[in-house]
Amino acid sequence: MRDPELMKKVMKKAVSLGKKEIENGRVADYIPELAKARKDALGLCIVEADGAVHKVGDTNIPFSLQSISKVVSLCMALELHGLDTVFSHVGMEPSGEAFNSIVELDLQSNKPFNPFINSGAIAVESLIIDYRSFDDLLDFTRMLFLDPEITLNRQVYNSEMATCDRNRAIAYLLKSKNVITTNVDTSIELYTKMCSLNVTAESLANFGLVLALGGKDPRNGNRLLKAETVQTVKTIMLTCGMYDGSGQFAVEVGIPTKSGVGGGLLSVVDREMGIGVYGPSLDAKGNCIAGKAILRYLADKLNLHLFHE
Ligand code: GLN
Repeated sequence: MRDPELMKKVMKKAVSLGKKEIENGRVADYIPELAKARKDALGLCIVEADGAVHKVGDTNIPFSLQSISKVVSLCMALELHGLDTVFSHVGMEPSGEAFNSIVELDLQSNKPFNPFINSGAIAVESLIIDYRSFDDLLDFTRMLFLDPEITLNRQVYNSEMATCDRNRAIAYLLKSKNVITTNVDTSIELYTKMCSLNVTAESLANFGLVLALGGKDPRNGNRLLKAETVQTVKTIMLTCGMYDGSGQFAVEVGIPTKSGVGGGLLSVVDREMGIGVYGPSLDAKGNCIAGKAILRYLADKLNLHLFHE
């Protein structure tokens, strides 16, 4: 366990640096319900392997998981089918394009570049749909986040379902290329429901810790995920977790992280800690702008970069 006083000091400083970035970003508004978020909200939670919990700021405000749900769905697909089957439907390369890009899928590839862009996540959802219901996935999410309170945010779900024509277009393109064979509407509904689950910075940190511990429950050591699933997911978080900002983030911060346009960041410090950030002001690529500054500072002060000396 790290010195609690030092943790508090470093985390407070990180959040104050993050606050300065908020004005340089924007709250997502392409899903109308997300535009209602408080732009200046900011919370940071760190959970250490021995159970120590450190919180600064708005760590208990519920917000929707959005693209961080792609990590949960990838875990489920890998648990169900294993590596070879999953990656015969979706690639494992960074796309270098925006999360909702459609062009490279049409022109360059017959399968989505990776499971963390929308096309890839919709393909992953279609691998789950015949085996698990939304309720099963909700239970799975509650188990992994150590949070029985996680529920579907109906307002966000309805708002996205009313405006997700681009995701529908992606799903039809996937179907035309036989990447998915499931019903487009049902695939989009499941994808959007997973994006609309309400979590907190604290529950994100819990999931980060489960991944940091190789898929084990920090409370009792019980295995929740296969080691192979977790190793794969963490690697793709490092290479693709911040969309077309993943390379720069990996160099500057070096902590496997997944972002969502709801403002969440899920980060994994291997074997040591889970980190959850909430801040709905986003950079141009859709990543929490304050969170990036926070994690960079934490990596520097606490030696959290994967390849630190
Ligand atoms: N639900 C969002 C979408 O499909 C998720 C995107 C994100 O968080 N980057 O557009």
